Amino acid sequence: MKLSHPIRVLLLGAPGSGKGTQTSRLLKDFPINSLSSGDILRSQIKERTPVGITAQEYITNGSLVPDKVMIDLITGHLKTHNWLNSSTNWLLDGFPRTKPQAIELNKVLGSRSCPLNLVVELDVPQSLILQRIEARWVHLNSGRVYNLDYNPPKVPYKDDITGEPLTKRDDDTAAVFQKRLDGYNEEIKGLRQVYEEEGVLFKISGETSDIIYPQLKQLVLDKFS
Ligand code: ATP
Ligand code: MG
Repeated sequence: MKLSHPIRVLLLGAPGSGKGTQTSRLLKDFPINSLSSGDILRSQIKERTPVGITAQEYITNGSLVPDKVMIDLITGHLKTHNWLNSSTNWLLDGFPRTKPQAIELNKVLGSRSCPLNLVVELDVPQSLILQRIEARWVHLNSGRVYNLDYNPPKVPYKDDITGEPLTKRDDDTAAVFQKRLDGYNEEIKGLRQVYEEEGVLFKISGETSDIIYPQLKQLVLDKFS
């Protein structure tokens, strides 16, 4: 696929709104690199790095990891992977999550002349999300997400690509999940402010990933092809 200009996109959406699923689908249709803050944190926890050790407590009780830790982690990744230039296509899922994170990211991108050019907010009814989360299983190493009802693995409880076992995230319990949702509803206001002002924010609404994806794909095609 030939793009008219590079894609630098952010996916916003409540926990469980399907950011990971939409990312996987975009990767099949467009030549982009993706980075999920949650996946990166989970792999740091698994490897017991200093960032992982700091992050673990916050994550298991459903709070946000401190801004400074997240900003250093994600902008560090952007730099070491050489994404801060005018030609690399990339997508971020889960970062920024707070207004200070958004402002810092804008500074870094602005200084390298590669600003965000699309921010998409996935809007899924939160009553559905809570039901759905019980059926969510993940492949930890890749970040691939399955839903036993909507998007089941080919072999029950096994990852489609590697055949490795799927697991439940330990922050996907009802109580912790509600706390994450509440936190999201608070933080999203500041993020919307930043991105509405820049004129890059689009909202896509739907009850399932199958309803959302065609709209997302069309939006990306309209803007970048
Ligand atoms: P989902 O993966 O279902 O979309 P989510 O967005 O809540 O849900 P992740 O993005 O996987 O989940 O993040 C898991 C946890 O990692 C968060 O609850 C939070 O503790 C921490 N985290 C991830 N990204 C950030 C961030 N940008 N700032 C602060 N904490 C973060
Ligand atoms: Mg996710």
